Amino acid sequence: MIDLRSDTVTKPTAEMLEFMMAAEVGDDVYKEDPTVNELERRMSELFGMDEGLYFPTGSMANQAAIKLHTQPGEQLIAHEYSHVYNYEGGGVSFNSGVSCKLIGGDRGMITAENVEAAINPPDFYHSPLTSLVCVENTTNKGGGACYDFSELERIKTVCDNNGLRYHMDGARLMNALVANNENPNNYGRIFDTISVCLSKGLGAPMGTVLLGTREAMKNAMRIRKVLGGGMRQIGYMAAAGLYALDHHIERLGEDHQHALEIALVLKSQSYVKTVEATETNIIIFYLEDHINEEKFIKDLLSRNVKISDMGQGKLRMVTHLDYSKDMHETLLEILSDYNH
Ligand SMILES: *Cc1c(COP(=O)(O)O)cnc(C)c1O
Repeated sequence: MIDLRSDTVTKPTAEMLEFMMAAEVGDDVYKEDPTVNELERRMSELFGMDEGLYFPTGSMANQAAIKLHTQPGEQLIAHEYSHVYNYEGGGVSFNSGVSCKLIGGDRGMITAENVEAAINPPDFYHSPLTSLVCVENTTNKGGGACYDFSELERIKTVCDNNGLRYHMDGARLMNALVANNENPNNYGRIFDTISVCLSKGLGAPMGTVLLGTREAMKNAMRIRKVLGGGMRQIGYMAAAGLYALDHHIERLGEDHQHALEIALVLKSQSYVKTVEATETNIIIFYLEDHINEEKFIKDLLSRNVKISDMGQGKLRMVTHLDYSKDMHETLLEILSDYNH
């Protein structure tokens, strides 16, 4: 099976499993798991942030960050495609009692101007108080697009000028860092909190680290506990994250190259209408109007290829650690030969 639905489908490699089995563990709720502590230390050091906290999922890390930065009744600003709004089960309102002011923008990205225009005047008490801006890098529903770092800095200035907190949903931030050869410290410098997934392109079976300033993270342990995320001998899983930091970051470039080659082949097919710009490991494309998406997906499945339907004609493929060179050759042939 060639599974391109998501980069979450990867399984630990034999080497990663071996490393996990050898982990030293303790009760992480007492902060006595040396492997978790090491992962949190390494990640916060990498991004130049004060603290890190290990979460079971990216959703929980984002939800904890939103809770840390807001009070019930307040409002956050995010792109209409954002994961925190679309794919976290309504957690923004459920967990934090916060509403979202959604704004548009190219492939899941927002601009400083649009953020500024979306802020409710703080003395106008009829409107919810704006207190937080959330951005995503790379964007998920936006097709793996990467922010220009200078735009993130400009948004930071708007946040500073208006007393807003600034959160980065960095589920695939490592992909952006590798694709643009960026220094993670730059991100640590401007964000109050950053979540980084270990279970996507990095290939760990679970885990996200929430990074933040000491001030922002003051209540993070309590919020994680409330959300049900206090875990015990979880160093076995954190070890997978440590292994990924050492062995699976640079190789993300291969996923990006594969994605680019898939996008190129798709572009030259008569059944494909458009392919969005492919910057990292996500390919978003649309079929010609007379081609039925459901049938296309079924036809691919009959040739052992799985892809995602994102709705409204949007189809998605995501390359990853378990998508091998052989699979790549096979896929390119299947796409070139497809007879509708
Ligand atoms: C995957 C992802 C998350 C985290 O999702 P989980 O399923 O909770 O791991 C958060 N944000 C973005 C943009 C993602 O792609």
